[in-house]
Amino acid sequence: MTDVEVVGAGPIGLAIAWRCAQRGMRVRVVDDGRAGAAHAAAGMLSPVAEAYFGEEVLTGLLVESAKRWPAFAAELGDVGYRDDGTLVVALTSDDLAEADRLRAYQASLKLPITAMRPSELRDREPRLSPRIRGGAFAPGDHQVDPRKLVPALRRAAVAAGVTITDEREPAGVTVVAAGCGSAALTGLPVRPVKGQVLRLRAPDPGPPGFRHVIRGYADSRHVYLVPRAGGEVVVGATVEELTDSVVTAGAVLDLLRAAADLVPDIAEYHLVEALAGHRPGTPDNAPILGPLDGRAGVVVATGHHRHGIVLTPITADLIADLVEKGVPDPMLAPFTPARFA
Ligand SMILES: Cc1cc2nc3c(=O)[nH]c(=O)nc-3n(C[C@H](O)[C@H](O)[C@H](O)COP(=O)(O)OP(=O)(O)OC[C@H]3O[C@@H](n4cnc5c(N)ncnc54)[C@H](O)[C@@H]3O)c2cc1C
Repeated sequence: MTDVEVVGAGPIGLAIAWRCAQRGMRVRVVDDGRAGAAHAAAGMLSPVAEAYFGEEVLTGLLVESAKRWPAFAAELGDVGYRDDGTLVVALTSDDLAEADRLRAYQASLKLPITAMRPSELRDREPRLSPRIRGGAFAPGDHQVDPRKLVPALRRAAVAAGVTITDEREPAGVTVVAAGCGSAALTGLPVRPVKGQVLRLRAPDPGPPGFRHVIRGYADSRHVYLVPRAGGEVVVGATVEELTDSVVTAGAVLDLLRAAADLVPDIAEYHLVEALAGHRPGTPDNAPILGPLDGRAGVVVATGHHRHGIVLTPITADLIADLVEKGVPDPMLAPFTPARFA
């Protein structure tokens, strides 16, 4: 009999399956083929720039997982891991006031982020608009390409002995890692949070004209630009409490206008894709990790919301540990499913 059945072949399920197989367990992954969030995801590993007021415990988990990313990426091969860092950029003085308020909070947590003048930002990224008023540099906020990550995890899991199938069978332990599909399987409050996102391509072959992840505030609109080495730029993303997958003209307009306000050259780039994905959101924006109360042998690893890519390494390590030893690591305590009982 299978020791562990993992439901969901997104980054979270595959990484857990891989880690469990590496510990000698017999593992199968079951996936029903619906589109997961990872296909839309930008792949920013942003524990610092995404540290928000009141989310200190979540930030601690993000920081710990980001530390594990270099070794995790090295084990997997080419997953598009880039460590050029992230620039926070503000267009107007109001935008700068908003960015500065968050930066001061992040710095108060001793996170690595430094204020920068417009000239310092443009020294790092000459393609930034001369209109920008200032911002910051977060050297430890990196990126990967989720469209390379998921296939790499799949290959690593299969090489470690994991079976991937669409049919469920009894197993010693079931790990529910089905993203937005987890609510129906567990009754936990995981809801889809729609994100519309664009993919552009630089007109000339080779990398785009900038290398840092750029997180921008442009006339109160929030936008990010994630440059891939191969020439792609991901521009995102809306945050909407909607379940449909429609791409709206208004969202495309807002994202492109904000992006071009910060990096004017991107108006010349080719628009190659516009799509909507759904983040698996939770009421407190933190993931749900641990044994499911009242369901012996069921463990949950879901609700990673905006952070599932950055949280993949630590989720896999902690859940594989739990499955192997039967005892949750203390780091899991704040994220227990029981907090929603
Ligand atoms: C627009 C957008 C941008 C994002 N940007 C980032 C980012 O920059 N950085 C970051 O860290 N995160 C980002 N995210 C969030 C990230 O994509 C998710 O947190 C992450 O993909 C969650 O991983 P997962 O494996 O839990 O779920 P998913 O990636 O959604 O995968 C779930 C899998 O479960 C399967 N499944 C579902 N229900 C069932 C079922 N009943 N039976 C069998 N299989 C099932 C699906 O087919 C799918 O393969 C972004 C998300 C979106 C939408």
